[in-house]
Formats: sequence, structure tokens, C-alpha cells
Amino acid sequence: MPNSAMMSKNGMVTKIHTRIRADPFTANYELVGKELGRGKFAVVKKCIEKATGKQYAAKFLRKRRKGADCRMDILNEIAVLESAKANPYVVALHEVYETNSEIILVLECAAGGEIFNQCVADNDDAFTEKDVIRLAKQILTGVAFLHRNNVVHLDLKPQNILLTSARPLGDIRIVDFGLSRRMDNITEVREILGTPEYVAPEILSYEPISTSTDMWSIGVLTYVMLTGESPFLGDGKQETFLNISQVNVDYSPETFEGISPLAVDFIKSLLVKNPRKRATAEEGLNHPWLNSLPHPHSQPHLLARSGSSLDEPETSQSESEPESPA
Ligand code: ADP
Ligand code: MG
Repeated sequence: MPNSAMMSKNGMVTKIHTRIRADPFTANYELVGKELGRGKFAVVKKCIEKATGKQYAAKFLRKRRKGADCRMDILNEIAVLESAKANPYVVALHEVYETNSEIILVLECAAGGEIFNQCVADNDDAFTEKDVIRLAKQILTGVAFLHRNNVVHLDLKPQNILLTSARPLGDIRIVDFGLSRRMDNITEVREILGTPEYVAPEILSYEPISTSTDMWSIGVLTYVMLTGESPFLGDGKQETFLNISQVNVDYSPETFEGISPLAVDFIKSLLVKNPRKRATAEEGLNHPWLNSLPHPHSQPHLLARSGSSLDEPETSQSESEPESPA
């Protein structure tokens, strides 16, 4: 890929193509409803573009955090979004505004919210294995695109994977490129630390990060989507970190009741300590699990919890995947 971008030493790209608007955001958008979500340094609110009536998500990012100027980090986030705009599974960036204290990213609105909500759901909102297969394919497709372009996300977790709609279950959108880096030129990883539960062993031991670092997180994500349980979560950070560095994972039949063995095999191909032995995004896409047909009514983590089957009708889906013959 021809790349004229300026790179700083830790893999950040700060040359962007989007025009940063200085006119007031509120002249062109009306904020509606309550906030869509928030993270450490950002608040995200739903808004309507006055000229078109279209709905967007405005991410308000503070430029100063803990006394430090973080404008470069925000430009990096914008640059990564720009580089992924051809991929439908990465959230689209519409416009950027800047005020004295903030930069506002106007993003495509993923109205279905975080997949986190369905991961912890105890009712008929919980994912079936068939849902998880479809969503995992989309996540892998998006991440394969990033990796082909030498970008690592570094913060893949259920709060950063959104849905276009929740009911019927829509498609995924990957958001939050605040920790993302270009792989070409990373030297400093110590300051880049994602959420403890989803972080790969090499991050904890300060070894080099690579695209495989994201693949570990996809293993954790898939585990959570299927079982409703976080595989490494311990009592406190130290225990969680120990569980990760020892790859202490529960693959017991009780936890995976009602879930096909191929799913477990898929997760095992990702939760591998040695990054070089972990499946890549392309390999993940070719895994037999993603081309298998599990029982459509199975709701894995409900089965695991209650030990009983449910007679729910199958959730309709906005997109039908071509399925290989059984
Ligand atoms: P942070 O970097 O602070 O974690 P995120 O980009 O992850 O910020 O946004 C915080 C939360 O806001 C997300 O977890 C999600 O719930 C919500 N959110 C972010 N982007 C969108 C969007 N495009 N559409 C709908 N909700 C969003
Ligand atoms: Mg986030």
C-alpha cells in the first residue's frame, strides 16, 4: 500500500485527509436523546444532521487528559478510521469538528449498541451459536482488513464491538481506534495497555505486539459471546494477569454445554500463548466452525446455566449467509 503518512515512533499515524471543521458542531447537528455510551476520555451522543435529517453518533474527545496534550492520539484515531473506510465492518467516519477543548468525531450510528449487552443477557436476547458464528465471521473480516493494512486495533472487547441493530440482530461495527497502531514502526508498547481481561500475554510481558495480539482478544470475545463468561477474569487484576500468562482457561463440558466442539477448537486456536502459533485472521476465517451449521435453536450460555433447552423461535436476521452443505 503506498503510504505517504507521517509516522511517529510508536506507530501512530497523524497525517489525516478529513477536513477538521472549526465552525460550531451545534450549527449543523442537533443532539438527541441520552448518551449512547462513554469510555475513559470520551462521551458519545446521538445526533441528527440538520441538512439531511440523518442520524449519527458524535464522539466528544477531550484534547487534554491528565494534563497532557492528546491531540496526536486523536489524529491517529482519525487516520486509522480513514484507512479502514472501505470496510463495512469498521464504523464509518462522517465528519470531524474541533473546539478549544475537544475534537468531535461524527460517526455512523450503530443503533444496536454494544455486543456486551447480549453477552451478559440472561433472556432471549442472548446469542445463539449460529448468531456467534455470523458475528465472528464479520469481526474476523473487519480485523483481517485492518491487519492487511498493517493496523492493529489493540482494544477489541465487547464494549468496542457494536451492532447496527439488536432486534432483529444486525451486523457488527468495530469502533474505538484510540489504542490502534500501525505495525510498521512500533517501538514503545508499555503505554499501550488495553482492558485487563482481553489483553494478550505478550502485552503483560512487554514482548513485541503484532497483529496476533488482536487475535488473542478475538479468542476471548468468542468465548464470552458463547458462554457469557469471561475466561480469564479473576478476583482483581493480579489474578486476571496470572490467569492470562498461564493461559488458565476452563474448557469443561459444563461451561460448553450445548456448544459444538468445533467452537471450542476455534477458541483454542486463538488462546495460544506464543503469538506466532496463534491463528491469523485469515486462518480464523477458514476454520471449519465458521462454515458449520450448529443447531439453530441452541442458546449456548443459557444451556450452560440452566441445563435446559428453550423453545424460542429462531431470531430473524438481516442478512443471510451462504451456508455450506452439511
Ligand atoms: P472510548 O475510547 O472512550 O472507549 P468508544 O469509541 O469506545 O470510546 O465509545 C464509548 C462507547 O460509546 C462505546 O462503548 C459504545 O457504547 C458507544 N459508541 C461509540 N461509538 C458509537 C457509534 N458509532 N454508535 C453507537 N454507539 C457508539
Ligand atoms: Mg471503548
